[in-house]
Amino acid sequence: MSLPVYTHSACLGHDTGPGHPESSQRLAAVIQALHEHLPGLDWREAPRATRGQLLRVHDEHLLEAVLEHAPAARTQLDPDTVLSPSSGEAALRAAGAGVAAVDAVMHGDAERAFCAVRPPGHHATGGQAMGFCLFNNAAVAAAHALDKHGLSRVAVVDFDVHHGNGTQAIFEAEPRVLYLSSHQQGLFPHSGSRRERGLGNIMNLPLPPGTGSRMFQEAWVERLLPELEAFRPQLVLISAGFDAHWRDPLAQMQLDAADFAWLTGELCAIAGQHAAGRTVSLLEGGYDLQALRECSVAHVRALLPA
Ligand SMILES: [Zn+2]
Repeated sequence: MSLPVYTHSACLGHDTGPGHPESSQRLAAVIQALHEHLPGLDWREAPRATRGQLLRVHDEHLLEAVLEHAPAARTQLDPDTVLSPSSGEAALRAAGAGVAAVDAVMHGDAERAFCAVRPPGHHATGGQAMGFCLFNNAAVAAAHALDKHGLSRVAVVDFDVHHGNGTQAIFEAEPRVLYLSSHQQGLFPHSGSRRERGLGNIMNLPLPPGTGSRMFQEAWVERLLPELEAFRPQLVLISAGFDAHWRDPLAQMQLDAADFAWLTGELCAIAGQHAAGRTVSLLEGGYDLQALRECSVAHVRALLPA
């Protein structure tokens, strides 16, 4: 069984403008690197998320802002977050990828799947696009697993270097979801302290700038992986950002591709014990193209069926 990879050319059409770190070149680099280094992946076209799927986590106002008022030219939703004429379609496909990937692993069509999509999602809250994110792709996928597939324990594991404030906000009162995040402290969006625990279903691990492989792996082994294990997830979703790589221009962590491969392996092992292997990973951040190529290949290689 090969690994399904969901993507859509529309995700390249979300135009953030010259000089913006969250560029279409990022996704193009990921797709090209996966084709080059991992031939035989099961490439699939991401469907559009439906209104009903989005409304499980987002409110009408956000849907309207992203989908119904397509601008004639690029407009800023905030200083970081851009809406271009084609952004609505990209956002629908990015969220739809996660939903389709959840359906695939829940139906036993595949054990694991990867979503090569943009815009990223983990900063988008129920009502607000922010931090380069329009819809919260991982949250839409998690809510689909709860509502459509009747799961009662879904884990969202977020190793992007930024805290996934949107995912946390959406699920902090939802005991069926466990949200785990490691991130660099002091960065955007300045949330994600250890004190933020939700119902006990939120676990944040802020790490100091300069954190390297050893400290990162120890932190996961000591603090976050035991939480995941104890939760006995029926599905593991991964918010896979690669901006904790040492080359990344937006952060100061010192990880390399092998760290992402290691963590992916650990997550797959826990999913193997409790979730019949079911793991869905969604691309979030990562702003150095070379690092993004190496990390996405290492991550997807670690997701491949044995
Ligand atoms: Zn990030």
